Amino acid sequence: MDTTVAIIGSGFSGIGLAIRLRQEGVEDFVILDRNEGVGGTWWANTYPGCACDVPSHLYSFSFAPNPDWSRTYSRQPEIRDYLARVADEFGVTPHLRLGCEVKAAEWRGDRWRLETSQGPVSAHVLVSGAGPLVEPRIPDFPGLARFEGPAFHSARWDHSVDLRGKRVAAIGTGASAIQFVPSIAPDVAQLHVFQRTPPWVMPHSSRPITPWEKRVYRRFPALQRLVRGGIYAGRELLVLGFVKHPRAMPLLERVSRRHMERHLPPELQRKARPDYTIGCKRILPSNGWYPALARDNVELVTDVIAEVRERSIVTADGAEREVDAIVFGTGFHVVDMPIGRLVRGRGGKTLEEAWNGSPRAHLGCTVPGFPNLFILLGPNTGLGHSSMVYMIESQLAYVVGALRELRSRGARTVEVRPEAAERFNAEVQRRLQGTVWNTGCQSWYLDGEGRNPTLWPDWTWRFRQRTARFDPAEYVVA
Ligand SMILES: Cc1cc2nc3c(=O)[nH]c(=O)nc-3n(C[C@H](O)[C@H](O)[C@H](O)COP(=O)(O)OP(=O)(O)OC[C@H]3O[C@@H](n4cnc5c(N)ncnc54)[C@H](O)[C@@H]3O)c2cc1C
Repeated sequence: MDTTVAIIGSGFSGIGLAIRLRQEGVEDFVILDRNEGVGGTWWANTYPGCACDVPSHLYSFSFAPNPDWSRTYSRQPEIRDYLARVADEFGVTPHLRLGCEVKAAEWRGDRWRLETSQGPVSAHVLVSGAGPLVEPRIPDFPGLARFEGPAFHSARWDHSVDLRGKRVAAIGTGASAIQFVPSIAPDVAQLHVFQRTPPWVMPHSSRPITPWEKRVYRRFPALQRLVRGGIYAGRELLVLGFVKHPRAMPLLERVSRRHMERHLPPELQRKARPDYTIGCKRILPSNGWYPALARDNVELVTDVIAEVRERSIVTADGAEREVDAIVFGTGFHVVDMPIGRLVRGRGGKTLEEAWNGSPRAHLGCTVPGFPNLFILLGPNTGLGHSSMVYMIESQLAYVVGALRELRSRGARTVEVRPEAAERFNAEVQRRLQGTVWNTGCQSWYLDGEGRNPTLWPDWTWRFRQRTARFDPAEYVVA
């Protein structure tokens, strides 16, 4: 198959780009996704309690507001359905090739040549919307392969396993665990929550949106835009603490500490109290987390896991806990993003080889040596406080700008100049120095050397400003 643009992924990134391409009059494109349904993150993560933790009015496309969100923070099925509906409404669905895994992509002189599970695809331009949090990471505990019960990651929830009345180990206390632990705790016989580092948890303001509010949003779309703007501005204030003045962050710690003290007895507080600056790892909103930990059938285990046996987990202190099932809430391969191994540029190097252990890209999007390749939500576009959809929409404008440039010049290739990419990355790393993410905690934001290839260290509107216009001077357009 021959196409002008091949897009990997049908999440917010892939669907968003497809819509922008159609608006530009480009119809010759294909969206390849290995999943059997549209939605990316929101198709794959079906664990109990799965929901967004950025308000839905902001965590959605600006051009496709949804007056019918049922809650201020919507649950996974609703977000998945929203994306499928938007794909339909904007005429993108016929371009989808689902169940199609991209196994390799190689630059061959003037085109990308893709190997997929449904045969070869040749494309003039390749856009990766393959997702920042897509490949589950499961720690290599000694003996794990010997475990005889069901064991699965939260992003691949096995709904055929009935956890009711079972002894369950939940490993990890990050953004997913904080949602599924309170959801399953009332139904299981015993839940052992294995914690490496305690999260900072804030009170959650999630609530149903009333029929009256929905009517108002439907009647006056401008009002919903106003609410969205207010949420955006409120969240953006957090940049002051995260990036500009990390010393102000302890003000937030007080709120979180009080939240914990309200629900946990003193001996549990000692185990659940973080010892790093709030914001250094992702701040998690939940009203259910601490009450779940305080339940009689829930145990918070802080000793490290030494070994997994056929029917039990043994911690470093020698304690052995019998369990029937293990659920991993242990995050994703982020700094070693899988797409890095698949994409091979000019000269035969993969992205991973070019990155040498730490991803970097110009505006999180283009990489020297990889002509006509654009990465959506690439390196240093992540946020600790606001909607990733805002970052995606910023990059969409940039990619469309690049394609216009190609078209208007009748050119074949566009490739970022190494010096432009280096300048940008040096600036990003300089800005990251003084941020809360560099205050000494261990997090998935950092690579093995302590470099942060993940987060955007500035106001998000600055990112929008910088991606608003494609600057041909930073590229070789030939
Ligand atoms: C549980 C969870 C909750 C989250 N909540 C929020 C939130 O509240 N707010 C927020 O801003 N962000 C949140 N995020 C981050 C979220 O990933 C982004 O907001 C956004 O959904 C990313 O969209 P995307 O399209 O870039 O990637 P994804 O949604 O991850 O989609 C990537 C797609 O690419 C496909 N793909 C990857 N590799 C291949 C391949 N080789 N071949 C074929 N297809 C491939 C995948 O199957 C997937 O469908 C959350 C993430 C998770 C995991």
